[in-house]
Amino acid sequence: MTDSLGPALAEPLFERAAIIGVGLIGSSIARAARRKGAAKRIVIADNSPAARERAAALGLGDEIAGSAAEAVAGADFVVLCVPVGANEAVAAEIAPALKSGAIVSDVGSVKGAVIAALAPHLPASVHLVPAHPVAGTEQSGPDAGFATLFRNRWCILTPPEDADPDAVARVAAFWRAIGSNVETMSAAHHDLVLAITSHVPHLIAYNIVGTAYDLGESTRSEVLKFSAGGFRDFTRIAASDPTMWRDVFLNNKDAVLEALGRFSEDLTALQRMIRRGDGDGLFDLFSRTRAIRRGIVELGQETAAPDFGRLAVADDGSDP
Ligand code: NAP
Repeated sequence: MTDSLGPALAEPLFERAAIIGVGLIGSSIARAARRKGAAKRIVIADNSPAARERAAALGLGDEIAGSAAEAVAGADFVVLCVPVGANEAVAAEIAPALKSGAIVSDVGSVKGAVIAALAPHLPASVHLVPAHPVAGTEQSGPDAGFATLFRNRWCILTPPEDADPDAVARVAAFWRAIGSNVETMSAAHHDLVLAITSHVPHLIAYNIVGTAYDLGESTRSEVLKFSAGGFRDFTRIAASDPTMWRDVFLNNKDAVLEALGRFSEDLTALQRMIRRGDGDGLFDLFSRTRAIRRGIVELGQETAAPDFGRLAVADDGSDP
């Protein structure tokens, strides 16, 4: 795999793309779209003055707008890259300024609740094509983004049944241009799948790190000192943005509770195997899960390098 996103497009896909929210995801879209020439002009808005300042200093857009409404005026493509719970307020703000025929999309990690929040505000002349790039890191803000974040990652589109096929095709073309593989499914199906592949794993990480922290003072320092690979990986996930993840759990409640129910039943079965000394049962499960990991590597969604390909930390604590 090379680091390149390939050559720039011969023609931009959009005249004016407005990116609302220039954090990890918004700034990565801006970087990738600029590199590929996917939009003739990129306009950025963010309600954080610090984020706007960084976006300007990093040259992420052709224009840094004073407000979301100002950014979307005249835009043919609008991508909302704000926390899930902020989408409704942004939709209400931009609705009167949207150009007829504009495509409005988002990147929210939850789809059903975001569509329910956006759709009532958008004028009938605008096309809503929701999207979720299944790519990210535990970092936030404009400095955390990078152009190749979406390369070889899935972007899931969840267009409503009556969505305009041309608008869906243009959004798909945009995500492919910046390196993603595109899949389309219903919002409800997306929310169920992501509950088990992303939302519940984050909850488990938040929980195990919280449990370790709540241990007594002396045990806690041992946990930090001897933190082995497994625990360190959980701490990375549990360092993810609190606002983003609070909003995910508040807005994908039913699917997360359903997945957690299944998880708890399976955990109880595991507890029983340990109590009864059922080594064969444990071995069978661990063999099946190891095969799943190999499958993910074979699909190109993860590296087979030990320790996730991270550089070993040298004895003196510095990276070699
Ligand atoms: P982020 O780095 O925290 O950036 C979000 C930006 O949006 C911040 O600068 C925030 O400013 C700004 N913002 C908040 N409310 C706003 C509003 N009403 N108007 C304008 N700007 C506003 O977040 P992110 O990680 O990029 O996540 C953005 C979205 O991507 C979320 O919906 C998330 O579910 C989705 N997503 C995230 C990941 C991931 O791994 N991070 C992966 C896929 C999808 P303040 O700091 O002032 O609030």
